[in-house]
Amino acid sequence: VATSHLLASSQVITSCVSVVKELVENSLDAEATSIDIKLENSGFDRIEVRDNGLGVSKGDVQFMGQPHFTSKISSHFDLDTLKTYGFRGEALGALCSVADVTVVTKTEEDKLSFVYTLDHCGRILSSKPSPLGQGTTVAATKLFKNLPVRKQFYGSAKRKKEEIKKVEDLLMAFSIMQPGVRFSLYHNHSLIWQKIAVPDFRSALIQTLGNSVFNMMIYVSKKDEETKIFLEGFLPKPGTSSQQACRTNPDRCFVAVNRRPVHLKEIDKLIRQHICSSLGFENSKSRWPVCFLSIDAPPSKMDVNIDPNKSTVLFHCKEVVSKLLTSLLESTYGSLEK
Ligand code: ADP
Ligand code: MG
Repeated sequence: VATSHLLASSQVITSCVSVVKELVENSLDAEATSIDIKLENSGFDRIEVRDNGLGVSKGDVQFMGQPHFTSKISSHFDLDTLKTYGFRGEALGALCSVADVTVVTKTEEDKLSFVYTLDHCGRILSSKPSPLGQGTTVAATKLFKNLPVRKQFYGSAKRKKEEIKKVEDLLMAFSIMQPGVRFSLYHNHSLIWQKIAVPDFRSALIQTLGNSVFNMMIYVSKKDEETKIFLEGFLPKPGTSSQQACRTNPDRCFVAVNRRPVHLKEIDKLIRQHICSSLGFENSKSRWPVCFLSIDAPPSKMDVNIDPNKSTVLFHCKEVVSKLLTSLLESTYGSLEK
């Protein structure tokens, strides 16, 4: 593999959790309603993501692993109307350069599914019929086989445990943001987490966080008519104790922009400020409210194309989002004491 390609790849595929993220996003883009994730040895030996989505068409199969191939966007104008998670065609190609990859896929029209073995450049090495039904299964084995330093870094027992935890957190975020999708997570052949398909955010929150956490939350929403930006979510009820309302890390503070899990410093900060001040406890980095905020914005109002793993987004109308959120928080908790 050319060094430049390997370097670029290692920015997209930084760890086991980033492989899971990219593969799950591909499954969601393919309109899957059921996604099973199987890890072996914390993902180092094998990561498999199976979906019941649209499958890869015969015409696209030979290109799917090629660097920068995407079936999702045809011009930069499309970025303004983008609805899919993927659009740069980097993930599968990057994965091929840092692991051994096979793809099993079948569309509705195909009579049979085929399993394709890809080489380190994403070219098809071999293919044969397989018994699997409609959808796509991508399996990556020997992750980071050619990046020994990274392999060693993630290889300690402690890091491996952290990776599994991060995968669980990521899937929890996706499962709240995509209520209608069923998820399961296996590690070393045992089921460690699952979520059934449900109709709405409310049921998805109950499923993933449990009734006792859900019962201390209230529903909030607000829309800006001019920009069509819509905020909705569930926040701790005013008066909830800090013990109930907060965790020591941000892993239960879910923020979604157009159903994309993101971490946006300013938004996280606004939420924390208001909740901590209202519920009467110190606003420190060790206090994170359990909450869910969904921001829906017309794609033309935002730019997700700013970092390789797409967990940051830019809004063209940042002030509108901040103002809407502030007013939502103020109407829930009252204004901030100066
Ligand atoms: P992107 O998601 O940015 O298009 P990827 O490298 O992640 O790029 O995937 C390349 C292409 O492979 C996709 O555009 C799609 O055509 C196909 N593909 C990958 N995974 C799946 C899947 N699970 N179901 C259907 N098609 C897929
Ligand atoms: Mg993708």
